Amino acid sequence: MTSPIPQITLNNGVTIPQVGFGVFQIPPEETTDAVLAALEAGYRHIDTAQMYGNEKQVGEAIAQSGLDRSEIFVTSKLNNDSHDPAAAKAATARSVEALNGPMDLYLVHWPMPAVGDYVDTWRAMEEALADEQTRAIGVSNFQIAHLERLLDETDVVPAVNQIEVHPYLAQEPLRAFGAQNAIATEAWSPIARGAVLDDPVLQQIAGETGRTVAQVALRWHVQRGDIVFPKSTHPQRMAENLALFDFALSDDQMSRINGLNTGERIGPNPDDFNWIPGTPR
Ligand code: NDP
Repeated sequence: MTSPIPQITLNNGVTIPQVGFGVFQIPPEETTDAVLAALEAGYRHIDTAQMYGNEKQVGEAIAQSGLDRSEIFVTSKLNNDSHDPAAAKAATARSVEALNGPMDLYLVHWPMPAVGDYVDTWRAMEEALADEQTRAIGVSNFQIAHLERLLDETDVVPAVNQIEVHPYLAQEPLRAFGAQNAIATEAWSPIARGAVLDDPVLQQIAGETGRTVAQVALRWHVQRGDIVFPKSTHPQRMAENLALFDFALSDDQMSRINGLNTGERIGPNPDDFNWIPGTPR
């Protein structure tokens, strides 16, 4: 069967499945089984990070799956304690080892503006790309000012910016800046970790479409063109979150969801998040 999941072409020609599977907050001892279940459900894109502590288990699931590595798109992210270029080089090598080979996409997890070295860190990411430790590089949680510095001072335009986006945080200016500069937007916490599931407008649209609230929210992302990777440890929800391509939201339904934007974050604000793992938060 041909996969119904659309592919998005990144600015260097690499393609990424628009819907993937996120493994944040899945304990390492549960990650191999969760990723195997996700691959069984049809996911072919896994989003992990050094900070999540489960890259090795993602690598194990891929090895056990019987699928060819080239059929699966794997993203990881450079940790906040490894921004220094020498530390970045070592961290990249550890990710490649844990994942049993080069990554498909490798991101700077947070800009850490108070530390202020993300331009140097980006040069280390460019080196990882040149060394074929990853097929594409990008950033996460970068604001417009942070992206502008990379565009002005470095060579490779980030392929993606992975940011918090959901119906309560539509992120229009940052998404538009990305679109103008060929930087694809990836939407993390696409259902706001469940916070949107009780929303009356989304519930009403779920009734109109005969779909679940999670599917309505995820379909809204897909129709906006963003890349998403909802997390679930329940196989039934994994399947539900992938069944997004046999229905569509009308313009009216899309604009009612657009009307829910309050600008409210569930995660940290990148402008003042400078946390280094192992230090108090
Ligand atoms: P999500 O918006 O994906 O929500 C996950 C939560 O919703 C879990 O509690 C899950 O519970 C529940 N859930 C999932 N599907 C359903 C469903 N169909 N019905 C009801 N409940 C559901 O939040 P995440 O924060 O996990 O974001 C997704 C991914 O984004 C992460 O795994 C990670 O890869 C990435 N991310 C990146 C960040 C960054 O800084 N770059 C920050 C945060 C996330 P259960 O598991 O019990 O089903």
